[in-house]
Amino acid sequence: MIVNDILNIINSAQKIYISTHIMPDGDCIGSSLALYIALKRVGKNVKVILDDEIPLHYRFLPYYEEIISPDICENDSPDLFITLDNNDIERLGRSKNIFFKAPNSLCIDHHPLGKVMFSKFNYVDTNASATAEIVYVIIKSLSVEIDKDIANCLLTAIIADTGGFKFDNVTPYTLNISADLLASGADIKKINEIIFDKMSIEKVKLLSKVLSTLSVIENGKIGYIYLNKAMLEDCGASVSDSEGFINYVKNIDSVEIAVMFRIEDNGVRVSLRSKDFVDVNKIANKFGGGGHKKASGCFIDNNFDAVKNVILDECRRSLWLEWHSECIQT
Ligand code: 5GP
Ligand code: MN
Repeated sequence: MIVNDILNIINSAQKIYISTHIMPDGDCIGSSLALYIALKRVGKNVKVILDDEIPLHYRFLPYYEEIISPDICENDSPDLFITLDNNDIERLGRSKNIFFKAPNSLCIDHHPLGKVMFSKFNYVDTNASATAEIVYVIIKSLSVEIDKDIANCLLTAIIADTGGFKFDNVTPYTLNISADLLASGADIKKINEIIFDKMSIEKVKLLSKVLSTLSVIENGKIGYIYLNKAMLEDCGASVSDSEGFINYVKNIDSVEIAVMFRIEDNGVRVSLRSKDFVDVNKIANKFGGGGHKKASGCFIDNNFDAVKNVILDECRRSLWLEWHSECIQT
């Protein structure tokens, strides 16, 4: 599938719904809003639906308030349903019901293929640092001008998924696109401040509590932290305040695999990061989750102790297996 095919699919639809994964991050929100703005400009009847809250710190993005809950449009049937930055139908939440009513569906993503390709059409580029890189090309191909609003959405997405241009998913192409977004008026200072620097008092308190749970095993090569509801309540913080906490663990000099457990009522959400060589996507895949080689996640419906044991076992296994093959290769 090439970008021209995407244009044909878009051109043959009038009512287009865009959706993305629950627990939204900068890439999925920024990409969705940028495509939303562009499709509106070419005269489409377009909506962004999301079965989750927009984290407070992303509420500086233009048109975020026009994102609607699937409850509001549950009886709608769009001509085309576009899912962005998501390779798992379950992560659409209740937007899934509307997805099934659309005669055409298109998935645009940069994650390695998920469990099954659930859309009719799929455009997946795992070389893209963020889904926003693909959306940028689509918007250009639609001949929509990249204005300040679109530029801010796309640059937010790229900065979020590249850790501020620090990860090894950054390519010369990422930087070329970002240069164009800057030239189009994106506010790189504000975006970086909001994603990485600005913290509410509640978030700082939560960070201190969560970091105090730090444990390291395997000679410091695996580090993990956890978060529960009581901590959130004590600090008056929300779950989205914990975005990025796992990086403190990954940044410990000895650590190769970092894990954050978020204990919820019906199970535990697991976030995984690797520094150099372990493929944490493979670990998440084993538990029905997904992501990228160096950043992945899954949800396991069991108690904390059970989840901790199976995840840490799997981390140990991957660490020593991949450590071994790394040593053989070098
Ligand atoms: P995070 O740890 O920040 O929630 O997620 C890291 C990466 O893994 C992101 O690319 C995210 O989309 C992906 N991811 C997290 N949880 C899941 C999951 O349950 N299923 C799938 N398919 N991907 C996930
Ligand atoms: Mn992404």
